[in-house]
Amino acid sequence: MVYVIVGNGPAGTNAIEQIRKLDHTGKIILIAQEANLPYSRITTPEYMTNEIEEQDIYIRGADFYELNRVETRLGHRVEQVLEQENVVILEDGGRIPYDKLLLATGSRPCIPGWIDRGIEGVFSLWNKADSEAIKKLLPEVKNAVIIGGGLVGLQAARALNSYGITVSVVEMADRLMPAQLDQAAGEMLLKAIVQQGVQVFLGTEVKALQVKDNKVEGVQTVNQFLEAELVIVSVGVIPNIDFLRSGSVQIERGIVVNEYMQSSAPTIYAAGDIAQARSMLTGESMLRALWLTAVQQGKIAGASMAGSEEAYAGSNAMNSIQLFGLQVISLGRIEGGPGVEEIILSQPTSGVYQKLLLEDGRLTGLLFAGDVQEAGVMYHKLGQPLNQGYLGSLKVSDPEFILA
Ligand SMILES: Cc1cc2nc3c(=O)[nH]c(=O)nc-3n(C[C@H](O)[C@H](O)[C@H](O)COP(=O)(O)OP(=O)(O)OC[C@H]3O[C@@H](n4cnc5c(N)ncnc54)[C@H](O)[C@@H]3O)c2cc1C
Repeated sequence: MVYVIVGNGPAGTNAIEQIRKLDHTGKIILIAQEANLPYSRITTPEYMTNEIEEQDIYIRGADFYELNRVETRLGHRVEQVLEQENVVILEDGGRIPYDKLLLATGSRPCIPGWIDRGIEGVFSLWNKADSEAIKKLLPEVKNAVIIGGGLVGLQAARALNSYGITVSVVEMADRLMPAQLDQAAGEMLLKAIVQQGVQVFLGTEVKALQVKDNKVEGVQTVNQFLEAELVIVSVGVIPNIDFLRSGSVQIERGIVVNEYMQSSAPTIYAAGDIAQARSMLTGESMLRALWLTAVQQGKIAGASMAGSEEAYAGSNAMNSIQLFGLQVISLGRIEGGPGVEEIILSQPTSGVYQKLLLEDGRLTGLLFAGDVQEAGVMYHKLGQPLNQGYLGSLKVSDPEFILA
């Protein structure tokens, strides 16, 4: 059996380990565009500003490939998959035949068309190479603008702020991290960020970059000009699936997979940011660009490829992050709607915000900021009915709830 894995992020790495656990003799070939040991993208902001060393970003030891008897083609890009022939084509024309193929190529930053990537000082922050390129420029940088106040943009803002750079964040939505926070939690985060000296412009669109001699000088928004020698664009990601052209693999927003992470082409599997898989709560088929999801899906994909029939339970929206001194955890649904009961356990005015969301008595979401201790226990209750006894045992500081 020849297993070909494309991508050495958390999805590919965990798949390799599962395959090797179940199949001691099969051949595993790893193809990855980045020529590194597997590393954590989550650490790229800290690595950019020297808060951590290169050795700290790796998620597996130097002997990982040898230990798992993996043949590597590192530094190679997959250009095409010939589904009929079970062959992967590399950018140099190399042909790699497979019996089973895992696509775990992750996603890449979405760069708006009006931004010229060739301008000096303009970056996205997605991989190790981005961190290293920005790191080189930092000694010349006094002011930085982050376009996009989402999870990645704010991690970059925090790192640059603690490095001593004056940072501005421009966000089109009316709150920070709109995908993970509601209005109340967004306001708590905004307060924490502004206290650290970061300027935040909400509901603001960037109109143009000011550039001289091909170097960025600043960002023009609708209302103001923000000086910047460094601009980081962080406005979302798109899955890396360009190498799949009209074939039998069903593609919607990503590669559609079943509960075994198998695509509509039986020999091709997908996991991680590129896989459109089942949501645990809604059953909907969806993309999630999340680390833990990539790990879990990689494990299921690897095991399935090696013959196991363990099914994927589904993904959950889940974020746990400490930013500017504020710890935030969001899980599942974060905002109310028809048929959704919102229970506020603690109001933000107390410095701790805790909200539960229930549908038909089942816990379908939570959002905790400031004090997140109970969130770990709650994770296991997601999707389960929460009885009154349990709710009563929670530390409740919202008077409305106590009186209800
Ligand atoms: C700054 C930052 C902060 C983040 N913070 C969080 C967080 O707090 N919480 C969270 O859950 N997630 C976070 N994420 C997202 C998380 O890192 C991703 O969801 C996760 O890495 C996805 O894993 P993956 O294995 O699917 O893909 P990736 O980790 O992206 O790995 C993809 C691999 O495929 C390779 N590849 C791509 N295209 C090709 C090709 N054509 N041919 C060959 N190889 C290819 C790449 O080189 C890479 O090795 C963050 C990401 C960043 C950048």
